[in-house]
Amino acid sequence: MDGLDLQLSRALSAASTTRDVSIAAGSLALLPAVLRRTAPAARYVLVADDNTWTVAGVQAAQKMTSAGLAMAEPIVLSEKPRVKASAETARELAGRIAGEKALPVAIGSGVINDLVKYAAELAGTAYVCVPTAASMDGYVASGAALREGGFKTTLACAAPVAVVADLCVIASAPKVMGAWGYGDLVGKLVAGVDWVIADALGEETLNPGPFAIVQDNLSAWLRNPAGVRDRDRAALDGLMRGLVMSGLAMQAHGNSRPASGSDHQFAHLWEMEGLAIDGQPVSHGACVGIGCVSMIAAYEWLLNRDMRSIDPTGLAARAPSAAELKAEIAASFPLPFMATNAEAETMAKAVPAEHIGRRLNILKKDWREIAATLHRRLPQAATVQQWLDTVGGPSNAAAIGVSRDKHARDHARARLIRRRFTGLDVLHDLGWLGTAVFELFAPGGFWFNDGRKA
Ligand SMILES: [Zn+2]
Repeated sequence: MDGLDLQLSRALSAASTTRDVSIAAGSLALLPAVLRRTAPAARYVLVADDNTWTVAGVQAAQKMTSAGLAMAEPIVLSEKPRVKASAETARELAGRIAGEKALPVAIGSGVINDLVKYAAELAGTAYVCVPTAASMDGYVASGAALREGGFKTTLACAAPVAVVADLCVIASAPKVMGAWGYGDLVGKLVAGVDWVIADALGEETLNPGPFAIVQDNLSAWLRNPAGVRDRDRAALDGLMRGLVMSGLAMQAHGNSRPASGSDHQFAHLWEMEGLAIDGQPVSHGACVGIGCVSMIAAYEWLLNRDMRSIDPTGLAARAPSAAELKAEIAASFPLPFMATNAEAETMAKAVPAEHIGRRLNILKKDWREIAATLHRRLPQAATVQQWLDTVGGPSNAAAIGVSRDKHARDHARARLIRRRFTGLDVLHDLGWLGTAVFELFAPGGFWFNDGRKA
């Protein structure tokens, strides 16, 4: 077993559901053996869409048939312009899977995988995932992101028991999908430091195992954005490995903390609002990439402040009351479902003034050490922006249809939609969130010229 596989097998032994992952060129040939070993069933049903059926479904079916596995008629979803991630489709799919009494194998990327994941849960069966693009980290996540009643929500369901990622298949996906996956993966830079700072301030203990699964190899996985763009096998291998290992880390920890911080809060905000360009939803990874650059720029701003001069007691005394927070939420979220969600999330992390004072005291006292960790772990915002440009993904808010004003405002709004303690809460505690955003968008600030040097 080489070093890469050793890391993967360690991550697998910590994961709650997924027991088998193969990432290699030609690994579809292993599918029958993986099914026999990890997902034994009387018969199987392949689920794909028109496109992924051609790209990998036909080949998977041939391999399974010639290996003597019993197969139901494949389910090839067809919807124009593309199959949508709706809970209703997943429920119909669950009925068909249950009717076939077969174990489903999802052949596709985010949407197909989420539909099958939820359908398998409803049908009471395990499932196996054959990803067709390195486009996001949700393959082995527990839970499926589906639209229910018009709104995107995460429905609880189990991760796949096995993943067979064939890099020949993944290399044939549209190039932009690799750029989205890369965007999702750069977000882990911010997820890591958000957790470090939450731990340092006594808000959420860092779980070293899952933290290491993501962070120990992150810079290696991100090293070659040009290779991802050019479909270099080693670069795609690193990207896919990073995305899958991030999912395994979430399974090992029991929630998304190891892979999702304030970077993802920007993405969730935009996804909840249904951000779209020309009627097409903007991809998750594109949103995360821009959320990541935004947060690194905000951390850079923070690192340039003098923390010795802060007055923890005075700042804590000026922290907004529950009534003031509720007023801020009401003014920030015109859509009622978002306001309700934001109020529940923000109130879950609202604490008395003494508590804020305590964590500001730790911040002041331990700042040198915390700042050193931030410096060590974070590349520059401009560098990450360059990686996103190189890989061919959007690298500023305008490129995903978010105006400058909205992008600026969304720093404060992103803080309000999740109870998770992140760098945004640190800035808020300090009373600096508004100033930071103002300066980041003012002349000389990182976002003044969309992040580019004038
Ligand atoms: Zn993600």
